[in-house]
Amino acid sequence: MRPYGKFYIPTPRIRLFTRMALMIRSSAIHAAGCYTTSAIRKGSRVAEYTGHLMTKAEADKLYEHSPVTYLFGLGDGSMVIDGHSMTMFVNHSCDANCETEEIDGHVYVVATRNIQPGEEITYDYCLYDGGEEEANCNCGSKGCRLTMYSPKEVKNRKKKARLNGKKLAQRPKPASNR
Ligand SMILES: [Zn+2]
Repeated sequence: MRPYGKFYIPTPRIRLFTRMALMIRSSAIHAAGCYTTSAIRKGSRVAEYTGHLMTKAEADKLYEHSPVTYLFGLGDGSMVIDGHSMTMFVNHSCDANCETEEIDGHVYVVATRNIQPGEEITYDYCLYDGGEEEANCNCGSKGCRLTMYSPKEVKNRKKKARLNGKKLAQRPKPASNR
């Protein structure tokens, strides 16, 4: 679910700001993370989630056999951004210091509290549509919900699992070979 996969040459998109000093280094949450070297004020845009824009159907086809993607669903989810910038290294946390905001097809990572220099930048992935993938969370925060799926998606997945369980239970038992 989270990172390291196929990198992709993006269609360049205009970056609206570059004043934040971000760097990538190893993270306790997951392999690599995105850190700020300067203080960030609550409400500031930290970065833009840039990358190649494609339909969800195109992305599904392209990454059919890849367990790892950097796809960010836009609007109703029919379009996705295939991440290609520092932002794709931003890890998930259940107690994140940022959130994502979608404005006119652009996705920004925005600080939800003041962030100190040296802190890792995180946002809540609220994953959905993950198929069989588990997407466990190990952010280590107090209120960790142990998954990177959104609360809504967790409910849906439980429901699906229950229905599948029922189907299995209703399946006629195979005749024993005596
Ligand atoms: Zn967590």
